[in-house]
Parts: sequence; structure tokens; C-alpha cells
Amino acid sequence: MRGQTHPGVAPGAGNGPIPLARPVLGEREEQAVLEVLRSGHLSLGPRVGEFERRFAARVGAAHASAVSSGTAGLHLALRAVGVSDGAEVITSPFSFVASANVAIYERARPVFVDIDPLTLNLDAEAAAAAVSSRTAAILPVHVFGYPADIERLERTGVPIVEDACEALGGAYSDGVTIGSRGHPAVFAFYANKQMTTGEGGIVVTGEGAVKERIDSERNQGRAPNMDWLDHDRLGFNYRLSDIACALGIAQLERLDQLLAARARVASLYREALGTIPGLTLPCEDAGLARRGWFVYVVQLPSGVDRDRTVTELGAAGIAAKPYFPAIHLMSYYRETFGYRRGQFPVCEDVSDRSIAIPFYPQMAEGEVARVAQALGAVLSQASGSQISLAARSR
Ligand SMILES: *Cc1c(COP(=O)(O)O)cnc(C)c1O
Repeated sequence: MRGQTHPGVAPGAGNGPIPLARPVLGEREEQAVLEVLRSGHLSLGPRVGEFERRFAARVGAAHASAVSSGTAGLHLALRAVGVSDGAEVITSPFSFVASANVAIYERARPVFVDIDPLTLNLDAEAAAAAVSSRTAAILPVHVFGYPADIERLERTGVPIVEDACEALGGAYSDGVTIGSRGHPAVFAFYANKQMTTGEGGIVVTGEGAVKERIDSERNQGRAPNMDWLDHDRLGFNYRLSDIACALGIAQLERLDQLLAARARVASLYREALGTIPGLTLPCEDAGLARRGWFVYVVQLPSGVDRDRTVTELGAAGIAAKPYFPAIHLMSYYRETFGYRRGQFPVCEDVSDRSIAIPFYPQMAEGEVARVAQALGAVLSQASGSQISLAARSR
């Protein structure tokens, strides 16, 4: 791990495999974790509150509650805004499956609406039109770190829980940091995210009462200032350990560099991939909106065999994967809710053509070039075989 932060041992240089993601961990992180281990205070200790205060300050939120994962945070945030049995939660089908699953945990129904073809975020007008008397919340996802149209969603008056798990470092269209609008926003710290605690997540909020409820429910429903064994509500074990929080504090300290390095790789990609015909790159920031760079996802030209492209990139030592598969088309969702192909055509088209390619802060210019070259070669082959197929069929 230590070697990863040292220049001169650039991972993936030469012809070695290039992974999809790779955390940046160094001596600061090792030291921070060691200190906790040596203190003997591994959970419910001082690092949790410290991490929460620093993270809240970082995104401009009044409060933060650290939890065991982004999914756990989304679950508790939905409960905190009042989602329960039989309610509807409007959300995007183009996301990681967790953002829809959390509604089902509360026996609510995820109601999908289609996405905007440019930003790939849920279409805010369609979301507003889907609001019914049963709607308990809207759960927009800032997909691939690009801010959803929160201003439009706020005008519906429906409680909002933001899935900001991919959007650390981003800003809304008014230029304000994602996470600072007052309603609950959830960030995640799995190893491929902008910063990591191994596993982990955090809910930020402008309301002290929301933090209090989440703090209690992450810890088995324990009331504040009550004895360990008294519980005044149903809760969970969604705690984040002091070990993880210490790692989080160390990562926060270098977050500016980590984000800048991701943005640098993104601009290298834009340049290197810009000449490949038919390839759609992530949308550029419009106005004051700012993407918090998390992954690099490209849309292949229509008609290209996506899975074969992934396989061929793999053969060239370059990791890639379809990202995201549409949630409504996953078998659990089809079987449970009767969703089917054709209901959200923009999402389905984008999802059928999208792949994530290697993207991490330490990526060298040469690696970006290798990915771009391999992708260009696979696609020109693909379009060549398409042309010859078309010629043969004539
Ligand atoms: C990472 C992520 C989550 C949370 O994932 P966990 O593994 O539970 O931390 C939720 N939604 C989206 C869109 C994500 O990318």
C-alpha cells in the first residue's frame, strides 16, 4: 500500500494490467489507524465525533452522522424524513442498486422516472410530475458526481434525500457545495470513492433533530444520555468504528489533492478520447455546477457490442465494466414490481451503451493514453466489422 503514494512506481506503467479503481493510502493513514489500535478504543470513541465535525465543515453542513456504509446512511435518512409502509419514493433507475433498495427496506415503493440524456440524472420535470399523495420523498442521485437539478425538486415541496455517494467535491448549479442545502445528503467511503474508510458512509443534515434520530438508530435505537440498555425506538447496528473514522480523518486532510488529481485524469481523458468517433464523454460542467469526479464513464456508439468491448479491453489488460445496469431491469425489480424494458427508454439506451474505464488519482498520463488507444482500436475494429456485416447483408 505504501508504495502507491510514491512516484517512480507508477502502477500499471508499461504493459501491466490497469485496474478500474485504486485507493490512495500512505503513511498518514497507517499512522492514524495504528494510533487507534494502540489506544484500545476501537469503536464509539473520540474519532467518530472528530470525523463528523470535520466532514460537516468540509461540505458546509451543520451536522454529520458517520455510519457503516452509504447504503446504511440512505436507509436512515429515508426513515428520518418519514418514509414508511406503503409510501412512494421517487428515484432514478440509473444508479447503484442501493439507492432504490433502501426504500424497500421500509416497505415503501421505489417509483422510477426516466433520466436526462445529458446529465444522466433523474429528469426533474418527470420527477415533479410523478409526485402523488403517497410520495414521501424524492431521492435524487448525483450520478457520476454530477449534481442533479435540486432546485427544481425543491419546488415540489416533497422531502428530499440526496444520494451524494458519488459526488464528494461537487457543487450544485448555484455553485454551492453538494451537501450544504439542509436536507439529508449521504456520502460513501467504499474503497473506490473519492475518499475511503474501507467501508463507510456519512449523512449530513442542517437539522439537529435529524442527526439525533440517525445517531440513535445507527446504534440500536439508543436514546442519548440513557443507559446502554435502554432503547426508545427500533434501531440498527450501523455504527462506523474509530478505526474507520481515523482513516477518514487522514483522507479528509488530503482530499483537495485527491480531488484535483481526479480532475486532472478526467481532463487527460477528455483530450485523449475526444477524437474517437461516436464516443460520448461525461457532460462538461454547465454554469456554476461542478462535477465531483468519481468514475469515468463513456457511452459507446449505438450498435457496438458493449460486452465484447469490455472483454477485448480486458484482454488488453484494461479493466472496464458495464456501468450502470438499469435498476428496473434487474430480476428482483422485474419480479417484485413488474418493471419491464421500454418503460424508461433514455435510461435503458444509456445503460446499454455505458462502460466505466480505469480512473484513479495516481493514473499516469501513459496509462490514460494506453486506455484511449485500446478503446479506439477496439471501436474501430467494431465499426469495421459492422460495415462488413452491412456489406455482406446487401
Ligand atoms: C457507492 C454508492 C452508494 C453506497 O454504497 P455503499 O457500498 O453502501 O457504501 C450508494 N449509491 C450510489 C449511487 C453509490 O455509488
